[in-house]
Amino acid sequence: MSFVLYGSSAARGIAIGHVVLFGSKRPDVVELRVDPNALEEEKKRLVSAIARTNSYLTGVKNTIPGSAPKELVSFVDTHIQIVGDETLLEGVCSLINQHHCNSEWALNLYQESLLSVFEEMQDAYFEARKADIRHVLDLILTNLSVGRDQSGSRHRPIKGGVVVAADLSPADLIILCRGGVSGFFTELGASASHTSILARSLGIPAVTGISHALKLFREKDSVIVDGEGGLVVGDPDDCILNEYQKKALKIDRQSNRSTKHEEIKDVVSADGEDIKIFFNLDMIDDTENLFRYGANSIGLFRTDFLFLNRADYPTEEEHLAVYKKIISESRQREFTIRTADIGPDKLPEQLSVPTSSGSISALGICGLRFSLKQPKIFLPQLRAIIRASALGKVRLMLPMVTDLDEIEIVRVHIAEIRREFRLQGIEFDRNMPIGAMIEVPAAAAAAPLFADSLDFLSIGSNDLVQYANAADRQNSDVAYLYQPLHFGVIKLISWVVSSTLKAKKRISICGEMASDCRLTALLLGLGLKELSIRPAVFLELQEKIRTISVYESKQRVKEYLDSGNLEVLEALVIE
Ligand code: PEP
Ligand code: MG
Repeated sequence: MSFVLYGSSAARGIAIGHVVLFGSKRPDVVELRVDPNALEEEKKRLVSAIARTNSYLTGVKNTIPGSAPKELVSFVDTHIQIVGDETLLEGVCSLINQHHCNSEWALNLYQESLLSVFEEMQDAYFEARKADIRHVLDLILTNLSVGRDQSGSRHRPIKGGVVVAADLSPADLIILCRGGVSGFFTELGASASHTSILARSLGIPAVTGISHALKLFREKDSVIVDGEGGLVVGDPDDCILNEYQKKALKIDRQSNRSTKHEEIKDVVSADGEDIKIFFNLDMIDDTENLFRYGANSIGLFRTDFLFLNRADYPTEEEHLAVYKKIISESRQREFTIRTADIGPDKLPEQLSVPTSSGSISALGICGLRFSLKQPKIFLPQLRAIIRASALGKVRLMLPMVTDLDEIEIVRVHIAEIRREFRLQGIEFDRNMPIGAMIEVPAAAAAAPLFADSLDFLSIGSNDLVQYANAADRQNSDVAYLYQPLHFGVIKLISWVVSSTLKAKKRISICGEMASDCRLTALLLGLGLKELSIRPAVFLELQEKIRTISVYESKQRVKEYLDSGNLEVLEALVIE
């Protein structure tokens, strides 16, 4: 019988398909045959996964405070002993030799045989040891999957399927998208999360906040994701299916219509103000989609996605190859490259198993902080951006900037790289603009200083809203506090815009607020004239801008900021 579950829309559109459960954190294991010549290589993989697990556990032990109960240390010690036990390595290696199989499969066999021995001993002590073994072996298994194409193991064939998960990371979604997923819904998640933003830019219908989804659906169930209404229909009958098929077709036609045009025309407001529209580019696979809309300039290239789903970090040459491709396709238009914005939800695989140095969090190491701590990862990207500057109108943009000193450190790196390039005869643009995203409230308050020191600023409203309201953008429990229209947020944006314009520097906004047509009059009224948006909303936004009087919007924004009168704000937003 059909049933409806309500959540929140994360990405619009309709997906109809069969359920693919994406539940377990432990990678699924499949048996793969390994060529006899490659067995040594396979064992090396195992050795390094064991070493990684060992150093993770040692790191965990080192972070246990002295005041913690002694049992805690001995608990971790037990795990370190298990992972360091020679018989574990020998046992799994001999299974690899015996079965000519992959390490994961051998580890699985080893785990099963060991646990079956414990199974026979009905004793609380052995019960606890069983859990220890399972925990450690699963950790090794996770470390084995680092850097592997997981499409064959963790993910089953998903073409046309609708993924149901507790939560999805952007890295998961990239793999699912490449596998042809048609939509997804999750128990957790929020509309401002990177996964939801990515789903919107990839055009994958998605709904978040479907409680107990993993318990309510079984593999291959028939399901509809209604990203328009923020709901999911389980086991739809023919009549509902028919309705939704029609609805999906209509949406498809509309989106085809909106992709026919080739060139962006100037976008002018009702009272003749030129508004510049830039596009956000999330993945390199996106460029085709982007240029289909006739993109002029790229206001935000999220290079973070180049770091996901791989075992190593991108080299200078890899970065450069990607930038070159985009420069050639974008026909010498402005191209704003944001340096890696690594964060808790966009973790490269090397960091996806927690490490002792892993203080990566929204208030810890993320964005530019990560890059400055990891020059070996940051400098190849910086060098590639500087080299790319010789080829097109490249702008360098730094994410999650808090302090002017951080920018000074980047400048020192840039000066050093340029000096080296000069000696080597490598070309670059000496005047490449350097800008920063304003996402941290303290940086927003210090906007005049940042505007003085940089060539341009871009408001990262997704994070600015999160930090200003102290409401995690990924957490649906505080979604009601994640308020772009909070008076404090509007005031901060107003201050950043006016301070930057006063310093005669360029200011744009590249967070999701820019792509929300309900907010356009407000943003223009705040003095913004450069919006960096999701390409899919371009036509709607263009039409909207044509109806807006910037002069009148400015009057209203001023009235609102002076009075805090919500009716004035509502009038602006509804328009
Ligand atoms: C933002 O924070 O507004 C932004 C554009 O960056 P991201 O969404 O990638 O954090
Ligand atoms: Mg951000």
